[in-house]
Amino acid sequence: MTLPVYRDPNTIKEPATSSVFHHDLLTPPFATTSSAGHYLTLQNGRKIYDSTGGAAVACLGHGNERVKKAMIEQIDSAAYVHSLVYAVPATEELAKELILGTEGKMSHAYLVCSGSEATEAALKLARQYFLELPTPQPARVHYISRHQSYHGITLGALGVSGHASRRGPFEPMFAQNSSRVSPCYAYRDMKDGETTEQYVVRLAKELDDEFVRVGPEKVCAFIAEPIVGATLGCVPAVEGYFKAMQEICHKYGALLILDEVMSGMGRSGTLHAWQQEGVVPDIQMIGKGLGGGYAPIAGLLINPRVVDVLRNGSGTFIHGHTYQAHPVSCAAALEVQRIVREQSLVSNVARMGKYLSNLLKSKLGDHPYVGDIRGKGLFWGLEFVENKTTKEPFDPKLGVSMRVFQKGMDTGMSFYPGNGTADGVKGDHVLIAPMYDVTEEDCDFIVGKVLGVIEAVFEEID
Ligand code: PLP
Repeated sequence: MTLPVYRDPNTIKEPATSSVFHHDLLTPPFATTSSAGHYLTLQNGRKIYDSTGGAAVACLGHGNERVKKAMIEQIDSAAYVHSLVYAVPATEELAKELILGTEGKMSHAYLVCSGSEATEAALKLARQYFLELPTPQPARVHYISRHQSYHGITLGALGVSGHASRRGPFEPMFAQNSSRVSPCYAYRDMKDGETTEQYVVRLAKELDDEFVRVGPEKVCAFIAEPIVGATLGCVPAVEGYFKAMQEICHKYGALLILDEVMSGMGRSGTLHAWQQEGVVPDIQMIGKGLGGGYAPIAGLLINPRVVDVLRNGSGTFIHGHTYQAHPVSCAAALEVQRIVREQSLVSNVARMGKYLSNLLKSKLGDHPYVGDIRGKGLFWGLEFVENKTTKEPFDPKLGVSMRVFQKGMDTGMSFYPGNGTADGVKGDHVLIAPMYDVTEEDCDFIVGKVLGVIEAVFEEID
C-alpha cells in the first residue's frame, strides 16, 4: 500500500490527496512505515527520534516484544467480550495492578478507550455521587476548571477545557455548567516580589471566590491537570498549590478531579503526579502512558469514598461503552504496567528527569530566546520568548514552535509543539517527553538536537 506522502509546505504547492479524513486536510501526517525502540521510520527512509513518544504516550518505546506477545495471547484466548456482561482475567488483573500503584488510596479502576472518554465518565460519576449520597445534593451540577487547560475533545470534556481554538466553533453547544479560574503558571502569572506562599493564597482566594459566585451548593467538582500538558507546555504547579485547592473543595463539599491523562502513569517521576502534591483526588483520569500506545486505553481511578456511595446507592454507574475494558487493550496495558514496575522504570524517570532538567537548564538556560524551562520527571517544556526580560512572546505569525517542530522533523527528531491556541496563552513552546528507559546518552543526544534545532530556527527568524 502506498501511504500519502507528507506535504512539505516549502516544496509542494497543491493539496495532498488522502482518503483519510484527517484533522488537517491540506497537510496530511508523515507517512510512517515502521517503528522500533525510540525511533520511527518514515516512508522516505528518514529515521526520526521520537523524543515525545507521540503526545507523551509511548512510554516503553515502540515494538516491545513482551507487550506484543501479551496482546496476541489475549486475541487467541478472548479477543472481545462485552464488558458489561463478561470479564476476562486481564481486565481484573489490570485493575488490581492499578490500585496497587495508588498504595490503596484508590479502590477501583474504570477502563475506557481515550482520555476524553475518561473525562466524560469522571464528570458523570461526580454528578451521580452527589445524587446518591445518603442526603442527596441534586443542585450540584457545576464544574470549576482552569483557563488554558485541556481535558479532551468531546463536548463534555471540551466544555470544561480552556482551549480557545478547540472550543471556538462549538462554544454555543457546551453546557452552561462550568466556569474557569486561573491555572498555576508561575512563569507568567506570579507577580514580582510575590512568594510562592502568597501566590498560592492568591489562587486559593480566586477559587474560593468562584465557589461563592457560583453558589457552593451547586459545585460538583474542581478539575485540574497536576502538570498542564498540551496547552501550556509542561507547567507543574508550585508547592502547596494542590493542597490549598483541595482544602477549598473540602470546605464546600465538592470533589477534586485530577486529570493525569498526560502527566500520569510514571511520567512525572512518581507513578501518579498527585503523589508529589500531598493530596489524594476523589477521581483521577489516566490515559496515554497507561497502554503506552499499544492499544487505545484510558480510565478512571476512583477513591473508595466515591465508590462506597454508589455501592450503597443505586449500585450502578449509569455509563458504558461497547469497547470499554477491551480485553486486548487491557492485556496490553497490564503488560506495559508490569514492565514499568518490574524494571523500576518510574525510578529511572525520576533519575533521568533530574539529569535531563540539569542538562536543559545548563545548555539552554541562558539562551536569549528561551524564557522558561519547566517540568517534572521526563515531562519538560521550553517556552520561547522574543524578549527574555519582558517575557514578550514572538509574533504568533512567525510560528516559532511549528518551525522548531518542522526543523526537528527535517533533521530527525520529533518534538510536540504548542502555541497561543489556548485561551490567554501568550507564546510558543515545545514539549519533550522521552521514553521511560532513556539513558544519559539519550538525554545528551536529545538536548544536543534541541540546541541545534533552536539555533537553526532562530537564525532563520533573526
Ligand atoms: N486530558 C489531558 C490532560 C490530555 O492531555 C488529553 C489529550 O491530550 C486528554 C485529556 C484527552 O485524551 P484523548 O486524546 O485520549 O481523548
